Amino acid sequence: MVGGGRGSQIGYIHRSAAMRDRSFDLVAGAFDIDPARGAAFGAGLGLDPERCYRDHEALFAGEAARTDGVEAVSIATPNNTHYAIARAALEHGLHVVCEKPLCFTVAEAEELQRLAHGRGRVLGVAYGYSGYGTIEQARAMVAAGELGEVRLVNLQFAHGFHSAPVEEDNPAIRWRVDPRFAGPSYVLGDLATHPLYISEVICPDLKIGRLMCARQSFVASRAPLEDNAVTLMEYEGGAFGTVWTSAVNAGAIHSQKVRIVGSRASLEWWDERPNQLSFEVQGEPVRVLERGMPYLHPEALAEDHISVGHAEGLFESWTNIYGRFAAAMRATGRGDAATLAGLRYPDAAAGVAGVRWVENCVRSADAGGVWVDYR
Ligand code: NAD
Repeated sequence: MVGGGRGSQIGYIHRSAAMRDRSFDLVAGAFDIDPARGAAFGAGLGLDPERCYRDHEALFAGEAARTDGVEAVSIATPNNTHYAIARAALEHGLHVVCEKPLCFTVAEAEELQRLAHGRGRVLGVAYGYSGYGTIEQARAMVAAGELGEVRLVNLQFAHGFHSAPVEEDNPAIRWRVDPRFAGPSYVLGDLATHPLYISEVICPDLKIGRLMCARQSFVASRAPLEDNAVTLMEYEGGAFGTVWTSAVNAGAIHSQKVRIVGSRASLEWWDERPNQLSFEVQGEPVRVLERGMPYLHPEALAEDHISVGHAEGLFESWTNIYGRFAAAMRATGRGDAATLAGLRYPDAAAGVAGVRWVENCVRSADAGGVWVDYR
């Protein structure tokens, strides 16, 4: 693991998800920008002190020199480091799980994708909310035509935790609003790419034709990075999408929602209640579909961990995604194309797609909020 050290927001979730089903063992790391703190953190996790390295370069070189060296690396560092660390890992022949956004530009993202492909390595991206069974149920229902023709995709990830300039006292938030570390966007890349990826899973046939984005910095010191943005998307074929993303939605906890509206019925998923999926048929009472129930499509039950009635949550979702990463890495190692063809996980293409979406949103917003052809 690179990054994810003491006090980091996301490190604990990666470690828990990767190890929960014993998909991975954590055996080495460069956990912190501060090497001594990182070494102490690794030792506290029970790692061999010799395998707690000062930085990612020492990690990759040190592990390459061992007969039992690591096979994969999980990258949970601030955005500006993803490209260099992922690239170095792939060049060392490692499989990679990288935090989102994968990098800053489509050109960089495509380079990583090519490198992974060329080296025959898996490059996964941590769209960790996409592993819920309820997402699989939504995908299966859309595929089966239970909504009718998809007309509207309404996405939102709009929390309120940064309504005030909290970054002044918190370094883990400060880098997020600084383009040198965060990249060309704040909430578009940090938040909106999550429901965007989920919408791609649920509605794989929808392709964006053009989009329009407006972004604002309600805490003025965050400019040019936005803490609120609205994006409109025209899909090829006539469907329409809207995305609201915000860190200044005062009072909201997460408010990540995906609503798919069809000609006959709608589906709504909310990450604060991920065990339920709302199915709303025009003219009929709302139905709340429950995770784990036998009436769900088989795909929605395939990765179920605990019997119905017990709440699953973020860790189960991430564990499912890490399980798929591991399955892909093992199948890649065996040259097992049939298994790989049947596996869906947030892969390099998903990472490229997220970076591409942000790049198009920024291009539109910075031109004054105009329609831009998607490229
Ligand atoms: P953070 O600032 O809380 O922690 C970053 C960690 O990385 C710290 O331990 C820091 O010391 C370490 N670090 C920084 N530079 C390093 C380097 N060069 N080498 C080794 N370690 C280094 O950040 P965070 O909130 O945990 O975010 C990390 C990444 O995870 C970001 O890209 C962020 O966008 C992403 N993230 C994703 C989700 C998600 O749901 N997928 C949620 C939160 C954060």
